[in-house]
Amino acid sequence: MHASRFRLTKQRRVILEELSSMRSHPTAFEVYEAVRSRIPDISLGTVYRNLGLLSSRGVIKKLEVAGHKTRFDANTEKHYHVRCMFCGRIDDVPLKGITIDSETIARETGYKVLGERIEFYGICPDCLEKDGGNT
Ligand SMILES: [Zn+2]
Ligand SMILES: [Zn+2]
Repeated sequence: MHASRFRLTKQRRVILEELSSMRSHPTAFEVYEAVRSRIPDISLGTVYRNLGLLSSRGVIKKLEVAGHKTRFDANTEKHYHVRCMFCGRIDDVPLKGITIDSETIARETGYKVLGERIEFYGICPDCLEKDGGNT
């Protein structure tokens, strides 16, 4: 039996393309603004719905943080994030050569590991400059 094919409509394709070109882990509204330059009559609701659909299919990743707007990531490869506690911005963490894999954790703890949630947080360079400068 074949898995049901995921239909990539034009809207969905443009949303995916725009999100893929953004490394900033944008909010739905930011994706909407980018998509609107190519599909002027698209609605925020449509963008929102499609982002939800794409993430439920595992095509993109949804980054939910309590107290902050949901952000989206087209990079579904395993990687870690660092989040700014002030502006909510999320960046990728370059972990060169360091892997924290569930097999190792399972071996070390005896747990059956079902998932992981590793998050780094702090103050981003922009916010540091705004708040911490000597000017
Ligand atoms: Zn910040
Ligand atoms: Zn990311």
